[in-house]
Amino acid sequence: MKAMVLAAPGRPLVFEQRPDPLPGAGEIRVRVEACGVCRTDLHVVDGELPDINLPIVPGHEIVGIVEALGSGVSSLAPGQRVGIPWLGHTCGVCDYCRRGQENLCDAPLFTGYTRDGGFATAAIADARYAFPLGEAGDDISLAPLLCAGLIGWRSLVMAGQAETLGLYGFGAAAHIIAQVARWQGRAVYAFTRAGDTESQEFARSLGAVWAGGSDDKPPVRLDAAIIFAPAGALVPAALRAVRKGGRVVCAGIHMSDIPSFPYRWLWEERQILSVANLTRQDGIDFLRIAPQAKIVTETTRYPLEFANDALADLRAGRFDGAAVLVP
Ligand SMILES: [Zn+2]
Ligand SMILES: [Zn+2]
Repeated sequence: MKAMVLAAPGRPLVFEQRPDPLPGAGEIRVRVEACGVCRTDLHVVDGELPDINLPIVPGHEIVGIVEALGSGVSSLAPGQRVGIPWLGHTCGVCDYCRRGQENLCDAPLFTGYTRDGGFATAAIADARYAFPLGEAGDDISLAPLLCAGLIGWRSLVMAGQAETLGLYGFGAAAHIIAQVARWQGRAVYAFTRAGDTESQEFARSLGAVWAGGSDDKPPVRLDAAIIFAPAGALVPAALRAVRKGGRVVCAGIHMSDIPSFPYRWLWEERQILSVANLTRQDGIDFLRIAPQAKIVTETTRYPLEFANDALADLRAGRFDGAAVLVP
């Protein structure tokens, strides 16, 4: 197999040729057909997350074909198309797992972070954490659903019954969730970097009723806001945009420090929440809804060997939507 490998934080990924891995008990090996590039991959590469299992193959938006089964796997069959998300394994016995909060498991594995991911031609996955994807949709278009879509979906659920919804940072996740929110009949207000008229236009093309800079005041009070950009300064900005009792949901795994702000911006029962990881039920729910909402993902395709370029272009905001690596 071929893989793009991170040996140390801050270094470019290096191309490696490796023997095909063998799936252990309860595992599958997939032939990777496409793997999305997520902002979390940047946080891994930059060493902004703790305890990265180095060397690591990043990538946790995998669309692949099952090609080998480990012992005891009966839920999947060779030839089946599956999606492999960020949540790669949970212990099943800790307090969180037992409470139905497996996204908070004390002993999890995460694809492309603590177990090798999909910036490769093959990947090993726990069969219980691979979602059958069926026949509809092409591999490249589906890949961004597996994190940008899924974490975005969990964030949207956390936002509650918001009729007016702000999305801060209009990248891969927001461009999917804007479509879902519109399909649900909500009004989407998109916030981008000040002056980024291209992203604002992109947001309007996906149904946002308003788009502006992150410091702009939206024309209405928002019921809720989701922050996808990793900038802590957006937390007080979003608090000022939501109504009394409104929610601000932080969707990212990493954010720069949140600056201090007057308590009165939080007062009147405004809430700040964070979203961590996903549960398998989130995946089942979202993958059922995605075709109903007729989500169309905007993707930019890169050959696997150009993973470093995809990461650099994501960092610089050089494309709309999502980057996808194709072996
Ligand atoms: Zn657990
Ligand atoms: Zn991700």
